[in-house]
Amino acid sequence: MPVSSPARMPPAGPRPVDPRREAARVSPPHAAVLPDADPTPAGGSAAAVLRAVLDHGPVARATIGRATGLSPAAVSRQTADLISLGLLRELPGSQRAAPRAGRPHVPVDVDTASHLAAGVHIAVPMLTFALVDLRGRVVAQEEIDHDGDPARVLALISRHLPDFVRRHRGPWPDAGHRAGTATGGALTGSALTGSAATGSAATGSTAGPGGGLLGVGVVSGGLVDARAGTVVEHGPLGWRDVPVAAPLRAATGLPVHVEGHARALAQAEILFGDPRARHGLVHLFAGHVVDAAIALDGTVLRGQGSAAGGVAHLRIPGATERCGCGGSGCAQVTLSERTWLARAVAKGVIPRPDIRLLAAAVGAREPAALALVRVRLRLIGRLAALLIDMIDPEVLVVTELATLRWPELIAEVQAEVAAHSRSRSAPERVVRPSSFGPEVLAVAAAAGILGAVHRSPRSVRPRLARTPLPPGQLPGRDHADPTTPSGRAHPAVAAAI
Ligand SMILES: [Zn+2]
Repeated sequence: MPVSSPARMPPAGPRPVDPRREAARVSPPHAAVLPDADPTPAGGSAAAVLRAVLDHGPVARATIGRATGLSPAAVSRQTADLISLGLLRELPGSQRAAPRAGRPHVPVDVDTASHLAAGVHIAVPMLTFALVDLRGRVVAQEEIDHDGDPARVLALISRHLPDFVRRHRGPWPDAGHRAGTATGGALTGSALTGSAATGSAATGSTAGPGGGLLGVGVVSGGLVDARAGTVVEHGPLGWRDVPVAAPLRAATGLPVHVEGHARALAQAEILFGDPRARHGLVHLFAGHVVDAAIALDGTVLRGQGSAAGGVAHLRIPGATERCGCGGSGCAQVTLSERTWLARAVAKGVIPRPDIRLLAAAVGAREPAALALVRVRLRLIGRLAALLIDMIDPEVLVVTELATLRWPELIAEVQAEVAAHSRSRSAPERVVRPSSFGPEVLAVAAAAGILGAVHRSPRSVRPRLARTPLPPGQLPGRDHADPTTPSGRAHPAVAAAI
């Protein structure tokens, strides 16, 4: 039902996975295209309307008007356009009393069935493939291992992506020819091509005509030049100046947006997480690598060399671990999962340095494993306190393994911030875990593409069908598949990122 309050907040904790989303079906991947996803704010009224519906939907047009300050005529026009693009939908069967003659009062919501974004997260030793809807909900997710060779990794992505899409949403080139039922008058007048797809079990909606994959987001750790679409440097993978966007764009025929891991996590939080993140966010990631992203007024800072947010060699008060940089107590060496896995092995908590084993031990509430994790979270809290004092954000989001699975452990970070921060901020309000739980890598991988849509909804354009990607190689390459699909459930961020 429509919500009149403009201040409804999404739940703070991780959202449960809805297995019915696996049943979601959308139309083919050839109907929409974005310009290269550039972070430039844009979109004007259309973006404001889409944002209002994302925040408050299902919502009446009158409420959109109040939330955006747009006139009723402007709201009606923008809403109609967004419906025609498959970005909004009217709720069937919810016709209500007209506030005045001739103005139907039909709630609208984000259309989560017509378009999806694909995401690929490159980590060590695995790739995470994801399909994510316009609300940032993960429709499907798979992980496969890789051997780290850049050419073979790119070939693997180009080969696996269409298979992944086929498995979860139907044939790549011609899914739109499957019969469906478009009811309720939604999405009429669409400029998109193709026939209706089947409805989404998750939303109870009926997919509209056309639509499909909006593009492919690729996220990697290390130093990433998003404008050039290049992984500049990725230490754990040994990559240097690896072009990613251009070869994948050529192979898939889809827009490809490449982003650094830390900034993608921040972008996901801004789009779909805590609303305060839009105003001032510090996102702190602690995995095998330790890095941060800073966003003000919805824009994630990049820096001249794409290196903003590099906190790896900030010194954590009280820490003494020797760092490869020659210093000691650096955040990277102090907090890295590598360090803590070695410690866990030395203490006999786990038999070998495997993050999945440590996660299982924490899950089993083994005291020695929990104690290690709590000490690490306390040290993360000291780094968080430094960042809060420097940046004074509205919210600081921590993404690391333990709090993704057990968000209540964030209290350890909050307690340490309270003890070390000089800021007057209340840590229990400012410091929180990721909004996405174990799905965080999947959401982050697609965040660049989804962010481009939400910033510039009119960049979604119909185009002629094409067959973008025969299930094969990158042009001119011929590599053996070095991987085996692994159906096992990795704990998110269980890899060197
Ligand atoms: Zn260092």
